[in-house]
Amino acid sequence: MAVTPPILVGERRANYRWTVDPRSALPPPLTLPRLLARGAARRCPVCGSGRLFRRWFTIVDNCPRCGFRLERIEGHWIGALGINVVVSFGAVLVAVVVAFVATYPDGSAGAAVAVIVAVAVVVPLAFYPVSKTVWCAIDLAMRPLEPDDEVDPRWIPPATRLER
Ligand SMILES: [Zn+2]
Repeated sequence: MAVTPPILVGERRANYRWTVDPRSALPPPLTLPRLLARGAARRCPVCGSGRLFRRWFTIVDNCPRCGFRLERIEGHWIGALGINVVVSFGAVLVAVVVAFVATYPDGSAGAAVAVIVAVAVVVPLAFYPVSKTVWCAIDLAMRPLEPDDEVDPRWIPPATRLER
């Protein structure tokens, strides 16, 4: 997804004057599809920046580009936990069905259990960072930007309310 830079950028012409492209001057509206796509890509829901994770499990406090405070309220990450639980249990359910079909009636129950356990361990760990950014996106869709979010004003879309 193309990200619009927050500053007035233009092309340098032969006469060395900077011209402003009005299309690039304002960030795009925070529509629900845009928010969710950014969340799924482990990006900031406000500006689309990556680099939100210092390590796989360690998310920064504020987006390095727009300043958005990712943990908006105390207890914010309970939503990410919920998303991760739903996705992980869904993956385990799929693994159980697939393992049952693949091993029925004469297959190895041990192999089936090993696959199911592997899914139950790997999926929550692998999905952990995505669950956080997706939850940030959903939270932002439900609760539009506020002054407490510490977002650089250049990254706040012209519409004060979230567009749907
Ligand atoms: Zn950002």
